[in-house]
Amino acid sequence: RNGLLYGNRYESTATASDSSEPPAEKFEYQAEVSRLMDLIVHSLYSNKEVFLRELISNASDALDKLRYLSVTEPGLLKDAVDLDIRIQADKDNGIITITDSGIGMTRQELVDCLGTIAQSGTAKFLKSLKDSKEAGADNNLIGQFGVGFYSAFLVSDKVIVSSKSPKSDKQYVWEGEANASSYSIREETDTEKLLPRGTRLTLYLKRDDKGFAHPERVQKLVKNYSQFVSFPIYTWEEKG
Ligand code: ADP
Ligand code: MG
Repeated sequence: RNGLLYGNRYESTATASDSSEPPAEKFEYQAEVSRLMDLIVHSLYSNKEVFLRELISNASDALDKLRYLSVTEPGLLKDAVDLDIRIQADKDNGIITITDSGIGMTRQELVDCLGTIAQSGTAKFLKSLKDSKEAGADNNLIGQFGVGFYSAFLVSDKVIVSSKSPKSDKQYVWEGEANASSYSIREETDTEKLLPRGTRLTLYLKRDDKGFAHPERVQKLVKNYSQFVSFPIYTWEEKG
């Protein structure tokens, strides 16, 4: 089990003047989420690339929500950021980042959305799993229902979600690791990482899955999925 997630871990990147930096707070996952994470992390599901479809679809949903709400609340668009999705592939470090300029999440929404199961599809998934006695059923069911955000853990050891909602002055960072029963939330204090609005996911790929960070591979997957998305998706390669 990896050491968790808060406290000293961040001090290495903080300078002395940051000593007033608010500490990361640790949260336990809802039991169902722990179970789901455990399944995902240990599954032999071979179609792991669905993670990108799930995360692009979340980015697209977030942009849709923003666009919809801005009809009655035009102030939401005040930051004049284009509505788009940007995917960066760093093959040398095995890192993929997915950034959208959508509705974002407040601190409380990070807890509610990424620590509990609100999604009906995922609830159905868990129910089907309980009903099925078949060995390896999880592998079929992951594909059948999709596992949403948590599919990031099909390929990642660690996932960082940094999000800025127009409802909040502050940007917050959710951090979770495969094989951990808790996640952490802290305020984003690195000014280089501040977003005008929206969400950035950073996926630290598992050793055997770093190939997903090859730009050609990302581009090919994005090409397949983008036909279902009504916002531009840009991909680029991180050059070291
Ligand atoms: P679903 O998309 O079916 O609701 P997910 O597990 O994919 O389930 O995502 C859970 C929730 O997390 C979403 O409903 C949404 O509220 C929130 N969420 C996930 N990704 C984003 C994002 N990029 N921007 C804003 N909210 C997000
Ligand atoms: Mg989703």
